[in-house]
Amino acid sequence: MKTFGLIGHPLTHSFSKKYFTEKFLKEGVDAEYINFEISDLSKIPDILEKHPNLSGLNVTIPYKQSIIPHLHKLSEDAQTIGAVNCIRIDRKEGIPFLTGYNTDAEGFRKSLCGFIPTTIREAIILGNGGAARAVKYTLDKLHINSLIASRTPRQTNEIAYSQIPLLLHTHKLIINTTPLGMFPDTESFPPLPYEQLNSDYYLFDLIYNPELTAFLRKGRTAGASVKNGWEMLITQAEEAWKKWN
Ligand code: NAP
Repeated sequence: MKTFGLIGHPLTHSFSKKYFTEKFLKEGVDAEYINFEISDLSKIPDILEKHPNLSGLNVTIPYKQSIIPHLHKLSEDAQTIGAVNCIRIDRKEGIPFLTGYNTDAEGFRKSLCGFIPTTIREAIILGNGGAARAVKYTLDKLHINSLIASRTPRQTNEIAYSQIPLLLHTHKLIINTTPLGMFPDTESFPPLPYEQLNSDYYLFDLIYNPELTAFLRKGRTAGASVKNGWEMLITQAEEAWKKWN
């Protein structure tokens, strides 16, 4: 039996264990999925030794970046993004060889492409964390120019939230990568001039709980098309499954 798992801390609200355990049951896959809630990454060699059938790992907060020095190889997307959310484990004569991938980027690409028209060429990304880097990487690949709205803009492609109203006439796609609106703080939302939006606009929220965040609700009320992060979440998990197999 193969073993798969998740490393992160804390793992109380993890989606992956439930998703993969149900998938294995439904598809008759002889495998198990274990949560490895570890307080630091020095525990990795121990996990690999205790679980010789461990073939793949998902990686979540806070280790998506700090895991990189513990890997032997990185895919091009993980290297450019600087974050890993999926590890494939191969063994040569019992010695583990770890390859890191970023399947958030592919999950986002597939979900976005089914949502926006090809005429969209400019986007604003709200938030400047790890998820924003995967989103930016994907938009670059799709030749969609993007600006990052940050509370503390530092670089040339970063803007303050106060600049957004002046950019809305050209930037019709807005992607929320901040945690604003995520359960349990469901009434918070990014500061935008929602009254300026209409049916020309597309709002994508990486959050999937709740299904309709305040950001999406306000956008939809103004007439914009909206999409949450659920399909992206499922797609990144299925992309991880492909890497492991
Ligand atoms: P993160 O690094 O903790 O935060 C993202 C950025 O949001 C921060 O760097 C910060 O940028 C901004 N931010 C944080 N708190 C804020 C606040 N109170 N007000 C305004 N801006 C704030 O998180 P992440 O790992 O990038 O993940 C971001 C979100 O994406 C999370 O909700 C996560 O659950 C979701 N996500 C979903 C999927 C999926 O498959 N659907 C995959 C990955 C992540 P500045 O300091 O520059 O403003």
